[in-house]
Amino acid sequence: MIGRAIRWLSNPGDDPALAVAQVRQMQRQIPLLYGLLLLNASAIAITHFRSAPKLLTLSLPAILLLASIVRMAHWVQVRGSVPTPAEAKRQLQTTTMLAGVLASGYVLWALLLAPYGGAFEQAHVALFISTTVIGCIFCLMHAPQAATLVAVSVIPPYFFFFLFFHESSFAPLALNVTFVLIVLLRVLFRSFDSFRRLVHSQGELSLQTQQMAELAQQNRALAMTDSLTSLPNRRFFCRELELLAGRREHGCRPFTVMLIDLDCFKPINDTHGHQTGDQVLIEIAGRLQEAAEPGRVCRLGGDEFGVLLEMAPADAERIARRVVRAVGVPLIVDDLRLTLAASIGLAGFPHAGGRASDLFDRADYALYHSKRSDRGGISVFTPEMEVAIRADRRIESALLSADLEQELDIKLQPIIDLSTGRVHAAEVLVRWTSPIIGSVPPDQFIPIAERTSIIHTITLIVLDRALQFAADAAPDVALSINMSTCDLSSVDTIDKMIGMIDRAGLASGRIWFEVTETAAMRNFDAAIVALERLRATGARIALDDFGTGHSSLSAMHRLPLDTIKVDRSFILALDDPSSRSIAEAIVGLCRTLGMDCVAEGVESKRQLARLQEMRCDLAQGYLFAQPLDRAKFRALVAEQSPCWVAVDEPRARLNAA
Ligand code: C2E
Ligand code: MG
Ligand code: MG
Repeated sequence: MIGRAIRWLSNPGDDPALAVAQVRQMQRQIPLLYGLLLLNASAIAITHFRSAPKLLTLSLPAILLLASIVRMAHWVQVRGSVPTPAEAKRQLQTTTMLAGVLASGYVLWALLLAPYGGAFEQAHVALFISTTVIGCIFCLMHAPQAATLVAVSVIPPYFFFFLFFHESSFAPLALNVTFVLIVLLRVLFRSFDSFRRLVHSQGELSLQTQQMAELAQQNRALAMTDSLTSLPNRRFFCRELELLAGRREHGCRPFTVMLIDLDCFKPINDTHGHQTGDQVLIEIAGRLQEAAEPGRVCRLGGDEFGVLLEMAPADAERIARRVVRAVGVPLIVDDLRLTLAASIGLAGFPHAGGRASDLFDRADYALYHSKRSDRGGISVFTPEMEVAIRADRRIESALLSADLEQELDIKLQPIIDLSTGRVHAAEVLVRWTSPIIGSVPPDQFIPIAERTSIIHTITLIVLDRALQFAADAAPDVALSINMSTCDLSSVDTIDKMIGMIDRAGLASGRIWFEVTETAAMRNFDAAIVALERLRATGARIALDDFGTGHSSLSAMHRLPLDTIKVDRSFILALDDPSSRSIAEAIVGLCRTLGMDCVAEGVESKRQLARLQEMRCDLAQGYLFAQPLDRAKFRALVAEQSPCWVAVDEPRARLNAA
């Protein structure tokens, strides 16, 4: 039992969390303890100054007070700091040891003073020891070993001194104080026990809090990560871009936003399935990370990636070229050899904009530009694009406030049967004249109408006008209406179109719908459903601008088609042997598959002759007529002679339309 007590006394601070909590409490209480000691000891030295020798009223108290002041200064200095468990243990051990030494020193000094002076001075000594020891033990309530050592160092000498060697009338007081101290120590141990439990429960609580914080941290990281490629996601990208733009607002070091879009990914996904698509994305994500160093690659969604580069656009362009090369290397997935390309848009701070949203929009515009004009290419946002964006905004606001029923009109461009020279059909082309901004070519306003969903209204108006005109026009002339991507994926628009066709009651084959392969491939499954539903009304489906996309043959094979419209670019290059071979092959393929073939953009007699040589069925172009208004188109249809009779002198009178 004694051995255990000695071990306990000599080992304070064994419990690390408790030791730290003890020292933090002691930082507040021990300076008070020394303050109490200094005051009480000074008072007793003063009351004995005349009666006791100077050694006891000056020298000895000076040593004790100096030691107390040094310790007090130490505790004041460390007040408020959080010790490490090892430091806390060391401090507890020092305090416990010093508590015994100083308590013994003070009590011996006080007992040495006791024989001097009269009854008042002696009573003061008894009172000094009893009150000071009670006060000190109170202050040491968070250091039970030190408090116990103080009690053990003070009570026996105090009790025995007054009981046996000195004024025996003080003996009851000594006994009294001894009892008080025993009770006090008991209370102190109990309250320390509660303190220990509190510290431990707080420890558990803080452990739970820490675990919760770690969990929250993991959740945050997950919310910022793309689960397929493990790259940071769009949310992360936008946050980083905001931070970067915010930081750079005050300084002007440039940085560049790079947006990457994979060309040909959609057809791969649609043709080979989502599992293959996923593997392609994982592989490409790895390549992008390597090629875009030191930029951080994020997956923004689908086949779109973003990179933030802390460099000017000129340097970022070098990285962009590396990215294009890396993406262009064929990849093997499930024994398939696949080739992709990347289109890239770059926008640099501060020239392309100061705010995160502006920079993103401009990089997106540059990307759109590079997809439209130079597939697999790189575009840096330029001041000219800024002008184009402003023009787009003007068109958009005019379109949003337009009375389309009034402002839209249609033109008809004849499609000529090359075996008879007569008008076989007409492509219906929309025309918009805005009272605010004047006449706007469809190439400019259709993409904006698609972005703002106004395209559905336009398609329905154009179809309505075409159906009305079909009733007036010659019964054997078909009308071909252009459809956009958005129409193909809008069930509501398709329902309305079918309703209108049914109500018109035209003969089967009088209405054609033109779709581009890019439009059909964007949402392939929806496109097939929509086209089959339209076809069920007796309408025919034509694949427009054939050869300009990336999956022409796949589209030709998988879509429900009746006609192929070979893009103008092939007709323009008919003199080039390889283009001629391609055109010839397409015409042959159409014949084999039982589809009609329309050559678009025929402008010269030479092109016409070549097309006739390869036995192409139908052709359309400025050589025959430009898009015409209804009256001129009717006049052309009524003509008896074949269209190319007048070809020596291109149809100036009709083309003047
Ligand atoms: P597209 O469907 O390929 O239409 C053919 C475009 O080529 C027309 O331009 C036509 O005027 C032009 N073109 C015809 N023959 C020749 C030629 O010999 N040489 C040259 N250089 N061009 C020729 P337009 O009318 O400006 O239409 C442009 C595009 O706008 C159309 O291309 C089509 O994608 C779109 N578009 C036109 N009308 C509509 C519409 O009602 N709905 C939708 N969704 N798109 C339309
Ligand atoms: Mg067309
Ligand atoms: Mg076309």
